[in-house]
Formats: sequence, structure tokens, C-alpha cells
Amino acid sequence: MRRDCHSYLISPILYSQQILRNMVYYTSCMRILIVEDEHKIANSIKKGLTQESYAVDVCYNGTDGLDLASTEDYDVIVLDLLLPGMDGITVCKKLRTDNIHTPILMLTAKGQTGDKVEGLDAGADDYLTKPFAFEELLARIRALVRRPRNEVGTTLKIENLTLNTLAYEVKRADKIIQLSSREFSLLEYLMRHPNTTLTKDQIIGHVWNYDADILPNTVEVYIGYLRNKIDKPFPRKPMLIHTIRGFGYKIGK
Ligand code: CA
Repeated sequence: MRRDCHSYLISPILYSQQILRNMVYYTSCMRILIVEDEHKIANSIKKGLTQESYAVDVCYNGTDGLDLASTEDYDVIVLDLLLPGMDGITVCKKLRTDNIHTPILMLTAKGQTGDKVEGLDAGADDYLTKPFAFEELLARIRALVRRPRNEVGTTLKIENLTLNTLAYEVKRADKIIQLSSREFSLLEYLMRHPNTTLTKDQIIGHVWNYDADILPNTVEVYIGYLRNKIDKPFPRKPMLIHTIRGFGYKIGK
């Protein structure tokens, strides 16, 4: 009997605390779109990825998937092959034709070997056969997000502030600064765009889930937390986090 895919989506509690910690820096400020019409599978994947600190959006048909993938900025798209509205192959081809090169992990069911080849030919970067273990999905997503992230390096530096995405460590003037995982994601996102004004919407889109419960002042509150840790304890150093009134925030001199 075919085992229900849902039962393969194992909670990541199997990981030791250190491995889990090590995974946060890969995943922080990464945003993933899941396009999967089987609600149970889609929601299980979302739950697992959210626990790994990814920001996750879900839609249940190909048409909405294409719309979101075309208008929002994702780091990886998990795309089911058979979908109502528009199938995964067509979604993939349309995205590539429109010059959208977000990495795509295609989900296929057993017995769709020919479709896998077609999926890869259509521009998917990898595929996974259902049913699958959650750990395998996670490993493949990490492999896909690691590619561009390796290009930008693992240590981000602005003035005497450093953020190491491998050690999950932030230092200013050689003093270690303790941050929550959300604060770390926010700081990493700002530091990946130095001297660039980022709007609240951009920040929310990369650091929080699309449907997360966000209050109008959530970003301000977290910027305040960061200032208290990054700028206030160093009054003789230049302030690094700036409010650009009416626009957003930036980090830099
Ligand atoms: Ca399907």
C-alpha cells in the first residue's frame, strides 16, 4: 500500500541542538513558495520549513503559483507537477521565459519518470519524488539556496560590525552580541544590502511569512531591538542603523 506522503514529513526534532543551530544561518531571511494542491502535504511542508526559520508562502493551484512567483521575490520555489489551473511544467516554462530564475524544486509522484525529465528540461533545478522524507526536502532546499549564498560569502561586514552566517554569530568591536533568530534574520537582510534603503514591505517579505501576524509597528519594534544591541552600547562608534523617514531603513555609515 502506498504510504501517505504526510507521514513522511517528520518533525526536525531529530536534529541535535547544535545541528539545528547550524541550520538557522542557512535558512534565515530565506523565503520559499510552495505550490501544491494537496493541502495536507502543503501545510505539513510549510509547518516544517517555518520551524526551520524559513518564511513560507503557500498556494494550491498553478495559476496562483505563477502569479506569486512572478510578483514576489523568493529564494526557492517548491512546485508540484500535477496542479489544477496550470500544471507545474507550464508554470516552470513560463517563469523561465519571463526571465525569472528562482531555483525550482519540482515534486513528482511515483511513476512520473518521464515528467521528471520534462520538468528539468522546462527549467526546474531539482526534483523530489513523493512520498519523501522531510529531511530530504530540507537538504535539497539547502543545496539550492546555498549556491547564491556562497557567492556572497559567509561573513558580512560593515564598519566594525560582523555577522557570520556559518557561526550564527554577530560581533561589534570584537564583542559578541546575542540576537534572537528573528533579530538575526533582520540584521542579515539589512547587511546583505548595505547603504540601501529597504522598505518595510521588503523587510517583512524577507524576514516574516506572507501571512504572519504582523502589526503595523512590528518592523519598528524589531529595528528598535537591533539598535539597542548594535548601536546603543557603542556610543563612540558611528550609528549604523538609520531610519529613512517615509521610506524605510538602511544599514551603513
Ligand atoms: Ca498535485
